[in-house]
Amino acid sequence: MVIGDESICTEDCECGSKQYFYYCNQGMIAVCFKCGRFESSDLPTNLVDIFLEDPTILMSLIKGDYFKALSDITDPDRWISLYTRIN
Ligand SMILES: [Zn+2]
Repeated sequence: MVIGDESICTEDCECGSKQYFYYCNQGMIAVCFKCGRFESSDLPTNLVDIFLEDPTILMSLIKGDYFKALSDITDPDRWISLYTRIN
């Protein structure tokens, strides 16, 4: 396992594409940009409801860097602590 390797920062999506992992202060999210499916962990339920209602909000938060890409993390300790949240 190589820290920061993109292959371990993604998982297969039901649509055949990939879901990419993002993190924020409160939790994690895995999102597929092809079909829009996402899975979250440790996020407030009402926030997840908002994403389900309007997926463009989630996209805006990713573009606005509220959610950051797991693959961008270079500190191994930080990476492991985030990675274990979702596995
Ligand atoms: Zn998909």
